[in-house]
Amino acid sequence: MSNITVCARFRPLSSKERRDHGDAVCIQYVDSETFIFKDEKAEELTFSFDRVFYDKSEQIDVYRHLAQPIVRDALNAVNGTIITFGQTGAGKTYSMEGPGVLECDAVKKGLLSRVVEGIFECTKSSDETSKYSIKLSMVEIYMEKVRDLFDLSRDNIQIKETKTQGIMLNGMMEMTIKDPQEALLTLSKGIANRAVGETQMNIASSRSHCVYMFTIQQESTKDKRARTGKLNLVDLAGSEKVEKTGAEGRVLEEAKTINKSLSALGNVINALTCGPMGRGNHIPYRDSKLTRILQDALGGNSRTALLCCCSPSPTNSSETLSTLRFGARAKHIKASPRVANEDRCIRELEVFTPIKRESRDKLLN
Ligand code: ADP
Ligand code: MG
Repeated sequence: MSNITVCARFRPLSSKERRDHGDAVCIQYVDSETFIFKDEKAEELTFSFDRVFYDKSEQIDVYRHLAQPIVRDALNAVNGTIITFGQTGAGKTYSMEGPGVLECDAVKKGLLSRVVEGIFECTKSSDETSKYSIKLSMVEIYMEKVRDLFDLSRDNIQIKETKTQGIMLNGMMEMTIKDPQEALLTLSKGIANRAVGETQMNIASSRSHCVYMFTIQQESTKDKRARTGKLNLVDLAGSEKVEKTGAEGRVLEEAKTINKSLSALGNVINALTCGPMGRGNHIPYRDSKLTRILQDALGGNSRTALLCCCSPSPTNSSETLSTLRFGARAKHIKASPRVANEDRCIRELEVFTPIKRESRDKLLN
């Protein structure tokens, strides 16, 4: 059993792709989990994922399959992470934010708005003995520096790890959120801040990773116990390869750093999927800020979902293939201790004492 849900999403052809290649696409529908991909040499490869979203799929389908179960678990103190991966222009931000988090188009709303609604619906429908407090933080990782999107002056946040709380971001702002409207307004401020910071530094959002973090604390008035679930949504930097020729100066440095952090993510996934004969004993979380921040999400008491965003056009087939391969590898991450504990034990999971790394690694290998 795999604890990571991997889905692929193909956006509609863009007008440029249509101009260049007409209606040609590099994929052929088989069913809701499988499709055939035609590479540049017209060779056919079959891919299967937990779900495939084709061009006509709706945002709500993506939410239901990818995020809803994770949101429900986060309300029960099981950490969760939802990641969008793919080349620039493939639909990562559209899937995450929709046309904008404050956009009220009910059909086009992205994962963020739906996650917010999901959290507050669950808290409302829970019994009276549970009291919830929801906090939101937003950071951006650019050139291996972590920047607080609620306070741009905090532009080099340090990551630390504690025995009781796992991975922590030192001094990061946490906004308390009381209702969905407040959550969406706060998110939109963070997103606007991202744009401001990027204009000041002259960078494009596709060159940085953005991490949205919800912390859901539940206090039981009955037994006075408090439990915390963390839910991360991660809009990754574009995964495209930058031409070796042509890129220079900062563009080249950016590309190298992005490649480094995305390869680090790939390496962590590989290490987690390796059997005892492989290099599975050491999981190289420390190789990048991204993998360090996601450490608890990828290997610990956590559920993870990966959305591989792709263009359907033959123009982009080589980038699409590498995105699909990344997803196919991630699918093989082995069951984590959380899965071994199964849902029946969720209430007994000691969320303030994440499983020790050594025992966790032993379980994973
Ligand atoms: P990325 O964040 O991966 O760089 P975007 O999410 O910004 O890419 O998407 C690029 C363009 O494609 C945007 O104009 C976006 O509105 C459009 N787009 C992406 N996915 C979809 C989709 N599923 N349906 C309609 N338009 C989409
Ligand atoms: Mg984007």
